[in-house]
Amino acid sequence: MRPNQDKTGDERSPSHQFEVARIREAFPILKQQVRGKPLVYLDNAASAQKPQVVIDTLSQFYATSYANIHRGIHWLSERATEAYESARADIQRFLGAAEASEIVFVRGTTEAINLVAQTYGRTHVRAGDEILISTMEHHSNIVPWQMLCEATGAVLRVAPINDGGELLLDEFEKLLTPRTKLVAIAHVSNVLGTINPIRRIVELAHRHDVPVFVDGAQAVPHLAVDVQALDCDFYAFSGHKLFGPTGIGVLYGKAALLEAMPPYQGGGHMIQSVTFEKTTYNKVPDRFEAGTPHIAGVVGLGAAVAFVRAIGLEAITAYERKLLAYAMDRASKIAGVRLIGTAKEKAGVISFVVDGVHPHDLGTFLDKFAPVTIAHNH
Ligand SMILES: *Cc1c(COP(=O)(O)O)cnc(C)c1O
Repeated sequence: MRPNQDKTGDERSPSHQFEVARIREAFPILKQQVRGKPLVYLDNAASAQKPQVVIDTLSQFYATSYANIHRGIHWLSERATEAYESARADIQRFLGAAEASEIVFVRGTTEAINLVAQTYGRTHVRAGDEILISTMEHHSNIVPWQMLCEATGAVLRVAPINDGGELLLDEFEKLLTPRTKLVAIAHVSNVLGTINPIRRIVELAHRHDVPVFVDGAQAVPHLAVDVQALDCDFYAFSGHKLFGPTGIGVLYGKAALLEAMPPYQGGGHMIQSVTFEKTTYNKVPDRFEAGTPHIAGVVGLGAAVAFVRAIGLEAITAYERKLLAYAMDRASKIAGVRLIGTAKEKAGVISFVVDGVHPHDLGTFLDKFAPVTIAHNH
């Protein structure tokens, strides 16, 4: 027996082995049968299922450590605050942020984008200014900018993509003008799977002194992200797509930008002092976390991040690459199937249509007879 061979004859080196069966075991929901067959869940781009460790962390936290944070002088409140702030530090490391105070907890990517549009946007964007997005954005990365444009008289510009679903960088660059006040772009497209060259996009935008907001909702589950290496100005993601709880998400912002931004919502904890005449606001990130936050959600997100880091994002990316190539190859050979989104740099998101079959009907058919759970409304 060679050293790397275990008793089952598996020849892959254990350290490089991607243990699919063991990882699948971690998700209790996948152990059930649906319509008499083992559940196959392919709707992770809409929301991911939760590993046992996240479920246990939530229930343990509620059972042993729950209280409101940042205000109690009692033992439980200190314990809960510690758990909350230690999750913030975990997420800082996960994103490669320089400081924990650059991590703001929000409800999800949608709220992060609205926060930036309503605070940074309202202070920096005037009539005639431009916000630059791309054709492949999620509705969450379109509508808040449209609302900002309506309120300020600014104009939304949309950078085009090619037939494979890749951003046309030349066209993108042409749309950067002295009127451009912000670029908002997906790291990975939820519809096409395209991985955008964020480092390059940031370089081009910064050459024109334009800050870049990155929608990382589809990127963090698939790619190792380092916000300092990307040099992006803002980065957002949702916990629920990263195997974490629903209702919690993250906005990263460079400290200097966050510190210059006015608050988003008013309430408890975001203030330093309040009189009926004047209120002074707290430092960041507290200034952006008005009211009692989703405390357990933050702690659960910390557990989800630890779960992903233990597997290793490099290992996840490498394994998904192989799976994606296999799936794209097999699907492209089925008569009548047309794949949408064939970018060279692509994450594990596959969209397709079948000639003559409405996507809704196909989704229903697969759910009833396969049974496979896929999204049918993109
Ligand atoms: C899911 C998603 C969003 C919105 O995330 P929410 O969790 O619904 O706020 C934004 N952008 C992309 C690319 C997404 O996939």
